[in-house]
Amino acid sequence: MKGLMMDYPLTTNIIIEYGNRVFSRKEIVSKLPDGSWHRYTYGDLYKRTKKLSNALINKLVVKQSERVATFCWNHYEHLEMYYAIPGVGAVCHPLNVRLSIDQIVYIIKHAEDKVIFFDATLAPLLEKVAPQVSPDIKYIVVNAPTGFKTSIPNVLNYETLIANESETFEWVKVDENDACGLSYTSGTTGDPKGALYSHRSTYLHALTVMTPNGANISSNDRVLLVVPQFHVMAWGYPFVCILAGADMVFPSMHLQPDALIDILQKEKITIANGVPTIWMGVYDALKNNPPKEKLALKEYIVGGSALAPSLTRSFEKDFGLKGTQAWGMTETSPLGTTSRIQKIHENLSYEEQLKIRSKQGYELPGVELRAIMEDGKIAPRDGHAVGEFEIRGAWIIASYYKFSDNASRFSKDGWFKTGDVGTIDENGYMNITDRSKDLIKSGGEWISSMALELALMGIPKIKEAAVIAIPDDKWVERPLACIVLKEGETITIEEIRTALSNEFASYQIPNSFVLLKEVPKTSVGKFDKKEMRRLHAIDQLK
Ligand code: AMP
Repeated sequence: MKGLMMDYPLTTNIIIEYGNRVFSRKEIVSKLPDGSWHRYTYGDLYKRTKKLSNALINKLVVKQSERVATFCWNHYEHLEMYYAIPGVGAVCHPLNVRLSIDQIVYIIKHAEDKVIFFDATLAPLLEKVAPQVSPDIKYIVVNAPTGFKTSIPNVLNYETLIANESETFEWVKVDENDACGLSYTSGTTGDPKGALYSHRSTYLHALTVMTPNGANISSNDRVLLVVPQFHVMAWGYPFVCILAGADMVFPSMHLQPDALIDILQKEKITIANGVPTIWMGVYDALKNNPPKEKLALKEYIVGGSALAPSLTRSFEKDFGLKGTQAWGMTETSPLGTTSRIQKIHENLSYEEQLKIRSKQGYELPGVELRAIMEDGKIAPRDGHAVGEFEIRGAWIIASYYKFSDNASRFSKDGWFKTGDVGTIDENGYMNITDRSKDLIKSGGEWISSMALELALMGIPKIKEAAVIAIPDDKWVERPLACIVLKEGETITIEEIRTALSNEFASYQIPNSFVLLKEVPKTSVGKFDKKEMRRLHAIDQLK
């Protein structure tokens, strides 16, 4: 028997309608690429989004299900695209501006984008891409200064495009399972692969991220969206914030630590997201130039790579700022877990609590996790049995977009294989020891590169550390630690080995170290181990 409840499709249109109805005076602030500030409200967003939807249909002739790409920083115009494109039944496809030209060309061709909205400051990059992709693509420039010139063909100005369009528009009717967004993986292994989000998955993900066990965002918050809108759709925050009625602040390309601190202070930000490298930079900058007043920041949410306990501790002790770790992937929309301590942990010491918070956390309602051991059995939730994590749920991909080898990434019973390895404990906390491809097998024993990195970054003189496996005649593989020292510091190998010896068996401690100026990073700011392995193979890292 069917329930007798309304059929109410969960779509992105529902989100923006809700924001306009209930929170129309909430603020959206953008620090634009030229350094100027733009401020308007949810109500203004709503009207301009409708104008853009009209333009998409009337001027750009975008049809339902077609892909419309964005090549933009984080700002209000990009937010308008996030709602206007799905509003006409099309698919919003943010392109990662930090990928190589070849990868960007590959992705545009694979997605068959019909239109590309781009920031004027990114024109020099897109000029290299445009001759290599379909000549039928229409280009729209945003934030163009007067006299803007480019070799990109068919360029229209965003403001001219929407200027004479009506502020009324009836959203194109879609099924909640229709696609609304497309994100490609950052392609550290093979070609980038597309995760095609549905309206329903986007809505349910946003609703869950908003909850206290998730990112805990409400209408009292002012949120700084540091994660690029081209990285897993800014972790879904453009949808989360409007559902929550939170003010939103967009930094566009102003992501340097001092610029972020300035925004945190001036805009009285209460919640911000970002990868660990962003927060490492912010911490160092605060340390060099301590703020006169305590920041309003209640919590910074970190994901994309492990949050080192040493960083969490230093931020809390020095500035009273709380870091919360989350785990997810492009394929999981992205939020899968958040690491928060609970009532059962309240009597533990600070360091014991920190140990728990340094795990990746427990899964949010709507997703399920399991770890599969080498023998194919599900690992018991005992904090010891190691396996590869598999995940399923309402906002987890069921297959990649137009991809022939889906079978290898899913279990026979349909769970997505994450490629991350680790344990789940009796309270449900996932603890990642590595990406499976980054684990080091030395003399038949596994060594966790991630555990070594976190411990190395806990040594006060070390700023960054990344560990990769290198071939070894005797042990097959050995860890190589690549280290960046804090300014003005020196260190001996013996000091490092002694510091590691409390936590690690001697066979786990690296014998080989290299000192770097900077650890190579991926397009989304993670340590680029593929590049480090390549540099090592060609003798540049020895
Ligand atoms: P991406 O699809 O670029 O977001 O990358 C997803 C991968 O980032 C995951 O499979 C993990 O390997 C890694 N990752 C994300 N969050 C965390 C975290 N909190 N701790 C450790 N690794 C993480």
